[in-house]
Amino acid sequence: MVFMIIVMESRATKVQIEQVSKRLEEKGFQVHLSTGVERTIIGAIGERTQATQDLVETLPGVEKVVPIAQPFKMASRQFKQEPTIIKVGGQSFGGSQLQIIAGPCAVEGRSKYLEAAQAVKEAGATMLRGGAYKPRTSPYSFQGMEREGLEILAEARQITGLPVVTEIMDPRQVDDVASYADILQVGARNMQNFFLLRELGRVKRPILLKRGPSATIEEWIMAAEYIISSGNPEVIMCERGIRSFEHYTRNTLDLSAVPVIKNLTHLPVIVDPSHGTGKWKLVAPMSMAAIGAGADGVMIEVHQNPSEALSDGPQSLTPENFARLVIKINKLYKMLKTDEGQ
Ligand code: PEP
Ligand code: MN
Repeated sequence: MVFMIIVMESRATKVQIEQVSKRLEEKGFQVHLSTGVERTIIGAIGERTQATQDLVETLPGVEKVVPIAQPFKMASRQFKQEPTIIKVGGQSFGGSQLQIIAGPCAVEGRSKYLEAAQAVKEAGATMLRGGAYKPRTSPYSFQGMEREGLEILAEARQITGLPVVTEIMDPRQVDDVASYADILQVGARNMQNFFLLRELGRVKRPILLKRGPSATIEEWIMAAEYIISSGNPEVIMCERGIRSFEHYTRNTLDLSAVPVIKNLTHLPVIVDPSHGTGKWKLVAPMSMAAIGAGADGVMIEVHQNPSEALSDGPQSLTPENFARLVIKINKLYKMLKTDEGQ
């Protein structure tokens, strides 16, 4: 199987694009269109022969045919040059807005969650987080409030008006979780759950794809490729730290992944400095570093009483510390954006 991209001339007509797609389909190719501002690119998956390539190159409106050697295709910058902008509610990832997703690791109870949601909103969070299904290392640890948790999340969205991000773990629950949440999060442990990824390809919700704790950048992009090639182009990448020999921090936050993903793909990328470090004191400096590296947002765990949190207390900020951080983050982001504009 190969993937080739057919770069159409900028003045190619709709009819010409359709003709090329039709010829490719007749030759047994699966065709995906990427309609850019400047030009359309046709991605074709199938058995490439020199004869097909020669034929396509002669069709009207075709500028050139380029086989893609990289293992990831539809996620690649070659396939789509403009950055993908993902709209959620009135907000967006990958454009000129910084998203600050905040909330506790897990939904622990109705009034507690609604209070936390209100507090992070007042502090300047742009979206809410909270797990209803928790992927815990131990089967004896708190596993989440499940459906009740989803209902609480939906109520929090209604009260605050902020979109809600929550983790999906089971391919059988995709539609169910999607009916409550605005963005579905694939946790680090499930990054290579290919059945889940394929199911998420057919859902009409953006996917927040966390990097696996021992995944290379290429493996991570291939996971995004599963979702995109299954029909859902709205993937937000999230760096959350990888496993290394270092034990002072819970994970090693790989901030170089941010510009690497931006170069290799057209997808938005955010950073989770909470899981990335495991220590609340490191969350502020690494949030600033993430924004400096070009991230489109951060995801931060916040708890009213971190020492009593049912999960991830040591890496959770209090609402007060979170409020202070938001001021700093927004200042830095504004400064960098103004600089870019000059
Ligand atoms: C989380 O966001 O609460 C979580 C479990 O994260 P990760 O999958 O990155 O460990
Ligand atoms: Mn957590």
